[in-house]
Amino acid sequence: MTKVEYKHTEIAAKKKLGQNFLLDRNITKKIAAVSGAAEGDNVLEIGPGFGALTREIAERCPVFTVVEKDPALAGFIRSEYPQVRVIEGDFLQVDLEPLAAGKQLTVLGNIPYSITSPILFRLLDFRRLVGSATLMMQHEVAERIVARPGTKEYGILAVQLQAFCDIAYLFKVGRKVFRPQPRVDSAVIRIVPKKEDPVRNADGFRRFIRTAFHQRRKTLLNNLRETYDTANVEPGILQLRAEALSVKDLIDLFKKLSLLQ
Ligand code: SAH
Repeated sequence: MTKVEYKHTEIAAKKKLGQNFLLDRNITKKIAAVSGAAEGDNVLEIGPGFGALTREIAERCPVFTVVEKDPALAGFIRSEYPQVRVIEGDFLQVDLEPLAAGKQLTVLGNIPYSITSPILFRLLDFRRLVGSATLMMQHEVAERIVARPGTKEYGILAVQLQAFCDIAYLFKVGRKVFRPQPRVDSAVIRIVPKKEDPVRNADGFRRFIRTAFHQRRKTLLNNLRETYDTANVEPGILQLRAEALSVKDLIDLFKKLSLLQ
């Protein structure tokens, strides 16, 4: 196990908590800058660790909230940044409603890679409360989020996020600037939930996307026919695979389907 020491606090980096600490100050500065976080914003940092990003956020916006699961690191942030509100716990369990009380959240984080997708889907569930999320994640996951139709990266994550959010891939970060060094590179992306959902039934759309991509190599017809009435859909479309359709085409298709009894 790699020991990581910072300002007289030593912890054994916990793989399970996705602990890869950022060392390069230029990068943390850049992430804070592109997030746009400014004084008066309602900023929330996920997984501050030893505070690499926390320090840069604090320079822009003195009072904000962090969520850290590791008690030793939560204690470290409490003592280093007394003005920061520390929620010690699992971000996936934290209710964002009271945090966003009255003001949308500006979310930031170099997030634990093992739970990147659950974090993204949780932010999506709370999208009405999120003004933007600037996140560093595993490079492969960032590629899956911004993927275009017809590529092998294009799937549930891309469609769900692109349907409900505007997404920008900002920059890549090599693995060498972390300790312990991960086996993969990282990337920073910025997610801004759209003002309006493209569909009225967001849960229904989520289930539809899961069903449409269930067996990627099957046609839409084969994936959908047990669950949906496809009578209103042009037959040619149903002979394609889900991965061939743009996000907009998938939204249009969803609107033409009804559930079988
Ligand atoms: N932001 C820091 C640390 C990144 S490592 C830096 O850039 O150096 C990921 C951090 O997320 C660790 O501090 C880890 O303890 C924390 N973490 C892991 N799982 C978490 C969860 N479910 N909720 C909140 N924090 C979590």
